[in-house]
Amino acid sequence: MKLKYRQIHLDFHNSPLIYNIGENFEPEKFAEIMKKANVNSVTFFAKCHHGMSYYKTKVGKMHPALKKDLLSLAVEYLHKEGIDCIAYISVGWDEYIAYENPDYIEITPEGKLSTSFLESRWKKICLNNRKYIEYIHKQTEEILKNYNVDGIFFDIVFQNECVCKRCVYDMVEKGLNPEVKEDRIKFKKIVEYNFLKETFEFVKKIRPDVKIFFNSRLRIGMEEEFDFYTHFEIESLPTGGWGYNHFPIMAKYFQTQNKDFLGMTARFHLSWADFGGIKNKEGLEYEIFTIIANGGKCSIGDQMNPDGTLEEEVYDLIGSVYEKVKKIENYYERVKPYAEIGVLSFKEPSGEKYDAIEGTARILLETHNQFQIITEDSDFKKYKLLILPDYYLIGEKLKKKINDYLKEGGKIILSYDSGISENENKFAIDLPLKFIEKSKFIPDYFKFIVDLPYKSKYVMYNPGNIVECEKGKVIAKIIKPYFNRNWRHFSSHFQTPYEKETDYPAIILGNNFAYIWAPIFSTYINYGYWIYREIVDYLIKNLIERKIEVKNLPPNSYLYYSEGENSGIISIIYYPHQRLNKRIDVIYSEGIAENLEVLLNDKKIENIEKLYGEGEVEIEKNKIKVKKVKGFSSIFVNFK
Ligand SMILES: [Zn+2]
Repeated sequence: MKLKYRQIHLDFHNSPLIYNIGENFEPEKFAEIMKKANVNSVTFFAKCHHGMSYYKTKVGKMHPALKKDLLSLAVEYLHKEGIDCIAYISVGWDEYIAYENPDYIEITPEGKLSTSFLESRWKKICLNNRKYIEYIHKQTEEILKNYNVDGIFFDIVFQNECVCKRCVYDMVEKGLNPEVKEDRIKFKKIVEYNFLKETFEFVKKIRPDVKIFFNSRLRIGMEEEFDFYTHFEIESLPTGGWGYNHFPIMAKYFQTQNKDFLGMTARFHLSWADFGGIKNKEGLEYEIFTIIANGGKCSIGDQMNPDGTLEEEVYDLIGSVYEKVKKIENYYERVKPYAEIGVLSFKEPSGEKYDAIEGTARILLETHNQFQIITEDSDFKKYKLLILPDYYLIGEKLKKKINDYLKEGGKIILSYDSGISENENKFAIDLPLKFIEKSKFIPDYFKFIVDLPYKSKYVMYNPGNIVECEKGKVIAKIIKPYFNRNWRHFSSHFQTPYEKETDYPAIILGNNFAYIWAPIFSTYINYGYWIYREIVDYLIKNLIERKIEVKNLPPNSYLYYSEGENSGIISIIYYPHQRLNKRIDVIYSEGIAENLEVLLNDKKIENIEKLYGEGEVEIEKNKIKVKKVKGFSSIFVNFK
């Protein structure tokens, strides 16, 4: 289902104590502001986290101060301007229901209410509750039947490890033990899956044409529930706790799927409901251009004031950014993100496993490599190179899949434990590597023994594996410290200095593989040591011929390449984000990069068209010379 490019996700969560709800809501003006801001779809509240409805409901609880049917007016006037209207329904948080039916609230395994009534926070409603599901479905039904909405956005769709009386009873019924964490997790997943399936089918039966999305649950490796979404919305507010790495990681997973997706940021300085907090223009531009360059549609979150008015300054800002999107979106509609490297992730990675993915993504973004994040169910053959970062032990099924991939010419980079068998201390993949033992030293040091501009001895902050290789070139060797630092002996402030070179390889490069002895990717995200990035980039360059390469672009800028039929788009984004305060990364200005050379290796360029950006662009055979990039530059390329 095709998504609109320029969306607003409009929150409206209001305590029943607020007395003037929607009093100054003028639907004509509302739609006009949206139109002027170049918005073409609005997600509009039907029911909020307080459990209050903003339409004439016979099922739910209308906000006591509501005098107008806001949903009906919004649908009518937005449609008049050709703008879509999606209805928002809060599922897992409903304060009204929590107070009316305290036994609907989730109970933690410690036996407490998930949120106490003494806290000023949302109470989480258990979704394993027939009566509550019917309540949600009846609200959905009256919205779908009485209002010509273009879709439904269900929010807060997840279940915790609830042990309320219903959950305990049903777990026992299913042969699960509520005292065991794994069983509680198994059960919560069943509850979530059943809710998604049942609700999706329920909506489809009433209005097969509408968009359906379940929020608060997007994660890597959720393929089993994909059928229940018409599209994906990646909620990711970089200054609202998600950070600047979250969106590109999620985008690089969701762009491998055959469904439209959007990136959702917000206009707030911080996070949702940051009233009076307005993002600066550079910040919003960076976020929106990053979404577009990754193949997403855009959504900007806002919250309407209780009286029904919008901040016009906010819509001037949104309008100025969406004006730019409007000019380039038709070009981006014709291409899809290109990737030649597949980064293999565990399903639902967390802790050090997520660190490994985040570190890999950072390195590949900073070295301007084109990659996607995949799981073991993905088609490996789409990629020239696979990276298995740090912790990917190999089971029987994956062993065969990777060995087949290598036989057919695929290349692989492994680090630390990746590639080793799940069941024994040896490599499971057909590679000339022999596992000896875990390194006894923290830290290890390493030194390149090939001719590279890096001549020093470098530290690896986390310990690695001792391996031997029968074939392949040793690029760097491990250097051991004098001893490990502990109470028996230590030397100087931090790590013990290096003593002498060992015979063991640190980095090995073969014809179709490279192995790095330590967890370089998770160490990179935790320490940010630039030499780790250079190692990975060097190995990639030596294993594959890249389709696209760039010179003179700094590592804190990004190059995303997308391709269509006989055309491509090069998006270059340079808005340095910095930590200059105690809370968030800020973007104060556009970065300037000069004299870039972009090389498109297996393509013959017919002509180019600059869609966005400053400075001249020239072609020289298959090389594109970009004189200057300031902030964002987008170049559309036609091939012969
Ligand atoms: Zn429960």
